[in-house]
Amino acid sequence: MIEEYECQPKDILCLFGPHIHKCHFEVGKKVAQDFKKQYSNMKEIDQIITYTGMVQEEEKYHIDTTKINENLMLEMGLLKHNIIDSEICTVCHSDNLHSYRAQNKAAGRNTAIMGLREEYDKMG
Ligand SMILES: [Zn+2]
Repeated sequence: MIEEYECQPKDILCLFGPHIHKCHFEVGKKVAQDFKKQYSNMKEIDQIITYTGMVQEEEKYHIDTTKINENLMLEMGLLKHNIIDSEICTVCHSDNLHSYRAQNKAAGRNTAIMGLREEYDKMG
């Protein structure tokens, strides 16, 4: 939007629709390390990726991808009050929403609709 339509970051509204949240985004050590490496310079990375404990003899971690994306939006210049999370976890609500984590190969796909509103200067 910034590059193609010359949108000003301060004018962009961002809504994170339903997606897997930290409560259910449990990963193994390798994925956690990959995320930590990718976002090593991100503030609060130690709160974003947290160690959960041992599950069936494997180290498990939880990752807050919402916070990662919020931080990326802030780095691009979006205003914090223009970034809103629906706070709907697709796994917690897999009775109404699709979730690969919850439904595996039987899961459908979620869709999103986005819009771009052009504002014109008022004439006269
Ligand atoms: Zn959840």
